[in-house]
Amino acid sequence: MAFEGLTGRLQNVFSKLRGKGKVSEEDVNEAMREVRLALLEADVNFKVVKDFVAKVKEKAVGKEVMESFTPGMVIIDIVNKELTELMGGTQAKLAKANKPPTVIMMAGLQGAGKTTTSGKLAKLLQKNNHRPLLVAGDIYRPAAIKQLQILGEQIKVPVFSLGDKVSPVEIAKQALQQAKDDNHDYVIIDTAGRLHIDEELMEELKQIHAEVKPDEVLLVVDAMTGQDAVNVADSFNKQLELTGVVLTKLDGDTRGGAALSVKAVTGCPIKFAALGEKIDALEPFHPERMASRILG
Ligand code: GDP
Repeated sequence: MAFEGLTGRLQNVFSKLRGKGKVSEEDVNEAMREVRLALLEADVNFKVVKDFVAKVKEKAVGKEVMESFTPGMVIIDIVNKELTELMGGTQAKLAKANKPPTVIMMAGLQGAGKTTTSGKLAKLLQKNNHRPLLVAGDIYRPAAIKQLQILGEQIKVPVFSLGDKVSPVEIAKQALQQAKDDNHDYVIIDTAGRLHIDEELMEELKQIHAEVKPDEVLLVVDAMTGQDAVNVADSFNKQLELTGVVLTKLDGDTRGGAALSVKAVTGCPIKFAALGEKIDALEPFHPERMASRILG
């Protein structure tokens, strides 16, 4: 289960605080030392941890908190609020074009879950009475087109494909026209990933971006890879102006680092969380709910 280690450690810290009728500055310092270690162990970015602990401390050692009836509870509440803020505060909604279709470009490294997430997102939109069109733009990974077509069939969402001999830029361009002709209000473009970030990949993504001018550029990252996921997001963001991140594999035993660092490091909000391989295992990301979940 995700965040297990972090949740356990934080609960330990808080159970010590909760019982106290009076909390000293030393108690707060001790608790924050432990919170700091717990976050570092959960693979949260070092600077993010430092800033986080400083913020909580600043709020926790105030006279009002120390002299309240239940100072421990107040401090837990402060941690909860700061965790929520760290992950973006409020839910970041999917963009919507003034004039349909809304174009969503999916990006990410191979294996992060891009193709699967494209299908899941189509399903989610369809559930909300939209008419998405999926676009098979990953022409390099063997079977990526077929995989998207199977997903499309499963959820009864059409998949636009021109095979693997036409350039992804051309595919995206024609798909957009098709979407307009067929009155689709969302277009989800699956793009190619590589095992590592390379120039060729970025160049292609930039060209697709220039061609279709997406309303939304979602980077799909594997939460299990912790800070690597954050570094990937940072690199993509520097080149592609991401509008949001999708964290996948939150059903696995991820330690939490990616969820807690990615917004602070990149400035890019997490818009969706994927919690399993099944087609309906995608949900809008709610910072507040995630913070409560982490605190257990
Ligand atoms: P792509 O190369 O980025 O397009 O990755 P895929 O969409 O093919 O996904 C790679 C693997 O990760 C597949 O086996 C998916 O079933 C799996 N996967 C994707 N999202 C999730 C998730 O949220 N949880 C789990 N457990 N597996 C996932």
